[in-house]
Amino acid sequence: MNVPSLSQPKIAEVVTNDLCIACGACVEVCPTKVIKPAYNEFRAAHEVRIDDLQACQSCTAQPCDSVCPSIRVDLPDLARRSMGLNVSDMSRQGPVTGVFLGYSQPHRDNGVSSSGGIVRLLIQTALTASTPVICLIKKEHGHGPAILRSVAELAKVPGSIYHGIGFLDAIPLLRSVDQPCYLVSTPCQLEGILKYAVDHEPALLDKIALKIGLICGWMYSDHSLHAFMTYKGIKGDFTDANYRGEDKVGLLKIRTGEGEHKFHRRVFAGRAERLDYAASFSSGANRLRCRLCQDHLNVLCDVAVGDAWLARKHEQKLSIIVTRTPAGLKILRSLEAAGSLHLESSGENDIIESQSEDLVEGQTARRFSRHLRSIGMATPEFVYAETTRQEPPPTLAEQAGFGIERLLRWLLRNKNYRLFRSVYLLRHLSRYHPWVGRLFRIPGKLFRLLKDRKTTALSA
Ligand SMILES: Cc1cc2nc3c(=O)[nH]c(=O)nc-3n(C[C@H](O)[C@H](O)[C@H](O)COP(=O)(O)OP(=O)(O)OC[C@H]3O[C@@H](n4cnc5c(N)ncnc54)[C@H](O)[C@@H]3O)c2cc1C
Ligand code: SF4
Ligand code: SF4
Ligand code: SF4
Repeated sequence: MNVPSLSQPKIAEVVTNDLCIACGACVEVCPTKVIKPAYNEFRAAHEVRIDDLQACQSCTAQPCDSVCPSIRVDLPDLARRSMGLNVSDMSRQGPVTGVFLGYSQPHRDNGVSSSGGIVRLLIQTALTASTPVICLIKKEHGHGPAILRSVAELAKVPGSIYHGIGFLDAIPLLRSVDQPCYLVSTPCQLEGILKYAVDHEPALLDKIALKIGLICGWMYSDHSLHAFMTYKGIKGDFTDANYRGEDKVGLLKIRTGEGEHKFHRRVFAGRAERLDYAASFSSGANRLRCRLCQDHLNVLCDVAVGDAWLARKHEQKLSIIVTRTPAGLKILRSLEAAGSLHLESSGENDIIESQSEDLVEGQTARRFSRHLRSIGMATPEFVYAETTRQEPPPTLAEQAGFGIERLLRWLLRNKNYRLFRSVYLLRHLSRYHPWVGRLFRIPGKLFRLLKDRKTTALSA
């Protein structure tokens, strides 16, 4: 790992450590314009690159560091300054004005939407009223943010895309809209945009009429798809991949120059196919920032939408919707009154059931962060009101698990996809067969043995 010198901005380390989520905040704030969008082949992800580190030597304020959401996000402060909320006690669930389960029949059943088609309905409502919308769309090569102005453009909007997203254009797009618009984004994208806006261009805040937030558990590097394609013998570069729509869980559709390949995401032809899918889309293939993320519920938006995976709902395509402001609640109620949205009351227990307590509370994220910091790596700091809460230090078994996850990530980046799958399988088996777990402890024991010998030799 390259540790930046004192004169280097911290974002250099953010990028090296796979923490950049390409929000674009640093690009906007850099006075010398040396930060450029970049696709990193090693990490197989969109991020930024500092083209001329010499320029940073004379940049005393280093404003890129203060806007970067992968360095520090003070959520109550941002909520106060961007939403005008008097948030003195922001819990992990964030500000809440209502919690619902819901769907929009035509949008849910259109073969594209991810869960209840709520986001699509909100976009359509805005466009019908001639309110522009900034959201991710399908582009000629991949996906990226764009301004939509007409209902016809709704066809460009994909369901959830879990890999290869750069959101760097969002701030310039926001600057260019001539009237307040709706903005659809994941939590980290919104954090970057708001961090930049509150400190450097507050006029942008007035350009956002409604913030529609996706609840977001993870994002993959493109290595996920490369690995899966290797296992399935799919040749050529992928031009596009989709994960949602068509059935309640969604089909994985991979398009290459040679055609389209479809895979069910829950029903597999056999154990080998299950392993191919499970390994490629496992947590070890997530962007590292996602494994450290503590804002999955999108606490800074007006309306947050996610999947309502609730036992009593039997995997129906249904959204869980958390309104965070009176404006968010008002628009939902008006769509319900107009008959275009089916809503039922829900509550915080359903948020936890659908997302897991671990994700909502950020428990593993905090322990993983602590582990990484103990080996000298920088991790993002998430400030909630209850900053005093301390996660117990990771146990030895957990530390070993985090170590294996780092190994998995390293194998992926080196395109050692087959070995990656084998290590994934061994790790999986070790949960059920203690002897496999012991295998994993051998390298650690050897290391300690060699270290002890060296210490004894030195002190002799
Ligand atoms: C990366 C990612 C991870 C997610 N993880 C979870 C999770 O752990 N738990 C959960 O409950 N829900 C998660 N979601 C949200 C869920 O998948 C649905 O997006 C949400 O339920 C809305 O569904 P919908 O049918 O109302 O919207 P849709 O009609 O499917 O509209 C989706 C909207 O999301 C936008 N979009 C798609 N992908 C991206 C992206 N990568 N970045 C920015 N915008 C994007 C599209 O432009 C569109 O506006 C995730 C979404 C994403 C993008
Ligand atoms: S330190 Fe200054 S010049 Fe260097 S990238 Fe950051 S903002 Fe730009
Ligand atoms: S500000 Fe955004 S784009 Fe810049 S380094 Fe941080 S996460 Fe990446
Ligand atoms: S999990 Fe967190 S860091 Fe990862 S894409 Fe979602 S909001 Fe961003």
